[in-house]
Amino acid sequence: MKSRNTSQKALLQGELESFDTFFTAEELFENARKKDSKIGLATVYRFLREMREAGTLYSYSCEGRAVYSTLKRSHCHFTCEETGRVIHFDVDSLDFLKDKIPGSISSFQIEVKGKCRKCSSGKHPAPQRGMHKGKGH
Ligand SMILES: [Zn+2]
Ligand SMILES: [Zn+2]
Repeated sequence: MKSRNTSQKALLQGELESFDTFFTAEELFENARKKDSKIGLATVYRFLREMREAGTLYSYSCEGRAVYSTLKRSHCHFTCEETGRVIHFDVDSLDFLKDKIPGSISSFQIEVKGKCRKCSSGKHPAPQRGMHKGKGH
């Protein structure tokens, strides 16, 4: 006979796989609760902790919140200082740092701030009406 905990774990496990990017404990909780209304947030946190300890889940700090991911071993976070927009990007390896890192890497987190491409292109983003070719008058 399956205990309730075991089946809730299996449910959470399945929900994990539905995320293809970073997620918060609350998001996982919301998704899981749609399928099992008895599931509690404490169960979700316990599950996340166990997964982290087992090395199948990675946790990062994103905008001051804890986010989780099963797919990535890195959290690369770009914040546009003009708009506050957050863009996540991928870095496959830190080979360029390998001589400086005193050990082996299991996961990493990078936070970059600056001006996103959108804001950098066009200092005065005038509303564009149709395509105006040619240089005016
Ligand atoms: Zn982030
Ligand atoms: Zn921007």
